[in-house]
Amino acid sequence: RFAEVQMAPPIEVFAVSKAFTDSTHEKKVNLSVGAYRTDDSKPWVLPVVRKVEKMLAEDDSLNHEYFPILGLEAFSTAASKILLGDSHPAFGEGRVTSVQTLSGTGGLRVAADFLHGVLKYTSVYYSSPTWGNHRLIFQLAGFTNLCTYRYWDAEKRGLNIEGMLEDLSKAPENSVVILHACAHNPTGVDPTQDQWKRIADLIESRKLFPLFDSAYQGFASGDLDHDAWAVRYFADRGFEMMGTQSFSKNFGLYNERIGNLVLMLKDPSCIPAVRSQLTLLVRGCYSNPPCHGARIVTKVLTDPALFEEWKECIRTMSGRIKEMRKGLRERLEKLGTPGTWDHITAQIGMFSFTGMTAAQAKHLADKYHIFLLSSGRINMCGITTGNIDYVAEAIHDAVSN
Ligand code: PMP
Repeated sequence: RFAEVQMAPPIEVFAVSKAFTDSTHEKKVNLSVGAYRTDDSKPWVLPVVRKVEKMLAEDDSLNHEYFPILGLEAFSTAASKILLGDSHPAFGEGRVTSVQTLSGTGGLRVAADFLHGVLKYTSVYYSSPTWGNHRLIFQLAGFTNLCTYRYWDAEKRGLNIEGMLEDLSKAPENSVVILHACAHNPTGVDPTQDQWKRIADLIESRKLFPLFDSAYQGFASGDLDHDAWAVRYFADRGFEMMGTQSFSKNFGLYNERIGNLVLMLKDPSCIPAVRSQLTLLVRGCYSNPPCHGARIVTKVLTDPALFEEWKECIRTMSGRIKEMRKGLRERLEKLGTPGTWDHITAQIGMFSFTGMTAAQAKHLADKYHIFLLSSGRINMCGITTGNIDYVAEAIHDAVSN
């Protein structure tokens, strides 16, 4: 039987990272996978995370018993509060419930399983382009109508709001619409507040179901509240909706798989039944979540001094990214690289959608050992003060040829 198995297509981002690892070129640069790097090109354990890990290691009251199926409640509550804002009335009204998940991906999968298996939704809309995993998650959860809505305007190098609204206006009722809460991956372009209002109007009038994917809160602007504006706006309008949170990037806890699924309902009396169905889904999938990341995040979010330290770490990361954006744009403009480069600083978050073609990306890999996705997306964190001149000159060469 195994002889019948066909080779699945490679996952591009991991294939490109492997090409980087395999390269022996001394100036090689990895601009592919979305992970923060310091200015020395090193992964960063946030000092506040290290501090809490030491506290946890010393705490003899902790053990390795199973977590509850839906995770640590103190974690989920604290996480939901940074998404919706501490004092959001929905908490007082008892209309919010949340579940610890295996990071953002796991949250999206539990959401998709619930939306399909329990609410019987079959149709999902995601932006074109979007993070490479959205389609796969919903497809594996059983969604059969997997559709894109227009998002990126290649000519303007910005948001195609009219195309987005037109496509969503044709979506069948009860379609799920995946929205990036902030720092859209891969384009780095978010709707303005006025555009969000138009999107919300349409979602409401067409009876669509909003699902916010929040993978970069704090990373985009350096400010947690600012980056949650869109989610809170929808919440204020009283939508029934879901939000998934990832603590991979803003806590640097990539491999701890710590995330949260937040559900906002109109009627609090539905919550026990909803939680009972979520319990079954999780029980039959992975039974219960891991504890390490949940303990770290809970401690930081519930201790005012640690919370301030964390916010400082976020500002360090987002600040370095902004510096690199500015530096890259300045260099390309100085070199006279064909095209305009203001989008590099206009875009926000970890990624920049450079506008480079697949051929130009290949040229960068072949000639300069600079590795990026064929879509032209680059991870700004891969750029450092040590390699920024090399990267700019290589891009100049690739674009000029
Ligand atoms: N959504 C988006 C848009 C992302 O970019 C990512 C991370 N690449 C995720 C969700 C989930 O990542 P994780 O599972 O590590 O939380």
